[in-house]
Amino acid sequence: MDPLPSPLPPSTHPDPSHPSNPTFIASVTANPFFSAGAGLIGVGAGLALLRQALNIGTTALRRRVLVSLEIPSKDKSYLWFLQWMSQQPARKTHQLAVETTFKQHDNGSVSTTFSLVARCVDTGTPFSLLAIWHVTPPAHLGLTTTQQVQRQRDGKMMDLTTGSPWETITLTTLSRDRGVFSQLLKEARELALAKQEGKTVMYTSWGPEWRPFGLPRRRRMLSSVILDNGIKERIVKDVKDFINNGSWYNERADCLLYPKLFVTFAGIPYRRGYLLYGPPGSGKSSFIQALAGELEYNICILNLSERGLTDDRLNHLLSNIPERSVMLLEDIDAAFTKRKQADQTGSQSMITFSGLLNALDGVASAEERIVFMTTNHIELLDPALVRPGRVDLKEYLGNATESQIRRMFLRFYEGQEDLAERFVNALRGREVSTAGLQGHFVYYKDNPEEAVSKVESVDESCQLL
Ligand code: ADP
Repeated sequence: MDPLPSPLPPSTHPDPSHPSNPTFIASVTANPFFSAGAGLIGVGAGLALLRQALNIGTTALRRRVLVSLEIPSKDKSYLWFLQWMSQQPARKTHQLAVETTFKQHDNGSVSTTFSLVARCVDTGTPFSLLAIWHVTPPAHLGLTTTQQVQRQRDGKMMDLTTGSPWETITLTTLSRDRGVFSQLLKEARELALAKQEGKTVMYTSWGPEWRPFGLPRRRRMLSSVILDNGIKERIVKDVKDFINNGSWYNERADCLLYPKLFVTFAGIPYRRGYLLYGPPGSGKSSFIQALAGELEYNICILNLSERGLTDDRLNHLLSNIPERSVMLLEDIDAAFTKRKQADQTGSQSMITFSGLLNALDGVASAEERIVFMTTNHIELLDPALVRPGRVDLKEYLGNATESQIRRMFLRFYEGQEDLAERFVNALRGREVSTAGLQGHFVYYKDNPEEAVSKVESVDESCQLL
């Protein structure tokens, strides 16, 4: 009988150390070092698997038990929340940082404001965890769960419009307490708005968006701006009538979804334009500020000669004015005079005259829009800019009239009627600005007699300040 064939054909390899040679396999498996190494690899692989399983398990558990809310730095609530955090007791937020708003104006002057917000600790990694806090919601919310708050910065992504790094705040809490998010955000918003109560927020353009500039200012009283008889009352009445007629506009505003059509066919855009013109220092800006205070509106100021302003940006800005705000285009003549308009470009900014007209005409929205323009040189303005529909009411604010001089004097020196008359008589025939008068009265604030006897120096005294 033939012997059974061997399952493994005997190695024919002449080299005994070749792996296919059975003597080699036997010698390797018999080697204690090899067995120990293989064992270690096995244990390592097992541990790695276990860790992965654990990770998956924890993530799944976190998903079930925890809930997170992300607030990107683009969102309005972002700054509100950071400010709210900085108000929390020191034990909880002991890391504060200053955020400085810096702006250099065209005339070279610089304004800065500081606000304290929760601090960033930049670890330098691409996705750095800037800060991590734990906050317990305020007692009145009736929740005892501690929230974890993480502030992270993405080292690679940048907000191209502002040039600031992209950041997010992530709040994490137990699923059952998810309601706390909206309560915390509401509280942060109320805190931010409370700071603005009784104040006027000034917005300036920041890239294509509006940002509050400086701290909200105390409202200016309308009575503190002294205009010639009837002007103030006329403008205030007109603006209030316009605002109160919201329903009239809305009833005719079915086309608001199609602003362009609305403007073209219905011809009743829900906006009103005002032009205040006259020499410098006649109270144009002060009046607009006081009017905004009276209406409890904020002000969005835009300088059309601003560097880098383009038609698109202008259009975007004018169509996205924060609610309850008056739009103020100051010194409109500086950007467009008849002369400059010839080449269709502004001197420093890149807006075109037609771009400005389009942006003004396109200001249609479900909310009323009040646009104020000021100029020292109305004669330089193109008639197209000030035609009805773009400018619905024009008012001249000139140098001080007798009535204004008298009222300003009595506002500074109450009850001094006789001195006021002397002062008015002494100034008869002279052109003085209301700003110059104010400077004079402030300089002699405790001495009305001297204010009268030094009347000759009205303009000089304001320069001394
Ligand atoms: P304009 O915008 O016409 O150049 P401003 O409103 O900037 O003038 O006024 C400059 C300063 O003079 C402000 O401090 C303002 O309080 C004061 N002022 C000017 N006109 C008046 C006025 N009619 N009533 C009260 N204050 C005035």
